Amino acid sequence: MIIFKDISLLPIIYELLQNLALLYTIISLFMPVILSNQLRHNYFKFYPKGILFFSLLALISMLVPIQFNQIPDVTVDLRIATIILTSAYLGPFNAFLVGAMTGIFRVMLGGLGWIAWLPAALICGPLSFFIIKQVRSHTTGMVMATITCTLVSMTIFAINTHYFHAFLYLSPLDHPNNFYNILVALVTCNTLAAVAYDRAINNIIKHQKDYDALRLKADVDGMTGLFNHNKFQYELAKALDSAKKSRKMLCLLMLDLDYFKKYNDNFGHQAGDALLQEVSRFFLESIRPQDIASRYGGEEFAIVLPDCSEYEALQIAEKIRRKIEQHQFYGCEEMPKGKVTISIGIACYPTNSADKESLIQKADSALYAAKRSGRNKSLVYSPYGNVCFMVKP
Ligand code: GH3
Ligand code: MG
Ligand code: MG
Repeated sequence: MIIFKDISLLPIIYELLQNLALLYTIISLFMPVILSNQLRHNYFKFYPKGILFFSLLALISMLVPIQFNQIPDVTVDLRIATIILTSAYLGPFNAFLVGAMTGIFRVMLGGLGWIAWLPAALICGPLSFFIIKQVRSHTTGMVMATITCTLVSMTIFAINTHYFHAFLYLSPLDHPNNFYNILVALVTCNTLAAVAYDRAINNIIKHQKDYDALRLKADVDGMTGLFNHNKFQYELAKALDSAKKSRKMLCLLMLDLDYFKKYNDNFGHQAGDALLQEVSRFFLESIRPQDIASRYGGEEFAIVLPDCSEYEALQIAEKIRRKIEQHQFYGCEEMPKGKVTISIGIACYPTNSADKESLIQKADSALYAAKRSGRNKSLVYSPYGNVCFMVKP
């Protein structure tokens, strides 16, 4: 048997190490981009345009390979970098498909030869990524990635090179050099790749955790745990946009505690803060999972209710209002009518407004009408002029 007689170990390892270095450099270079969103990917979402783009990029990179003077037979191209970029941007599943496409292009360009086993390495990159990401323990992840990738690459190698039958007869005793050469090369390279991936993924996860913690701090009001004003504006704009696209209704509640200044004056600002925290909890208990509650400022709050009719909005508002009215807050007996209360104004898209600013302004106008007409009530903005009316819950 002379199956692998023209394969010498050195150039294979040499080329793989070159590619590995290239690949790892690219991972490092693109780390900041990768950080922002890639780990949020749904791993099995199919991105056909992305696959086409990266496959073409791989094709172009193969058309302009880098030649090495020292080893005339060996060229290095950027196709592995393309796979890793796909892995970073579109997740391992799409990278796997790009790897397969790249393999096909490679065979079309170079024909079937021993070098055609490189697609195996291309597929093994995303596979390593996937396995290491799934397995919590570093060592287990790396070992699993190495074993799986070695098996996969040997199989692809066998199929690609038309020597599949060779593996059936392949015994280390009959063909010691060739078998071990290939095995050693694959295990070495897959282990190195697994270590590189493990390190890169851990860096990404660490940075992503820091980033998420910072983001959360930037979006959330420290005292109440609700979203802050900035985040409210952003979420309202987004919800309004999607309501327009999906032709659904959206309602906005503006809420303001009644006589809160008096509460502060009576019991101090710390008690006032505690009250703000308690009512915030009532908001969260009363809204649906898709609703967005935020602190608009001071003792004023705003709740965005996507896909919600005026009637449903009023029901939610009344649920909140009644809960607060009925709760025995600290010191409530000294408040007007012996209870802590809240007033709520409601405005809706598209009935009242199609514009974010005027929606806020109309909910505000309904809120102040509620205040003027005695407080402790929910009012829906009327589309007829600037008049507000109360709807029976
Ligand atoms: P109304 O029924 O008309 O809403 O009367 P009000 O007293 O609630 O309204 P006003 O706007 O006169 O007072 C709001 C008070 O809320 C004044 C301010 O000291 C207090 N406040 C604003 N932010 C905070 C806060 O973070 N903590 C505490 N404890 N009080 C706050
Ligand atoms: Mg108030
Ligand atoms: Mg106020």
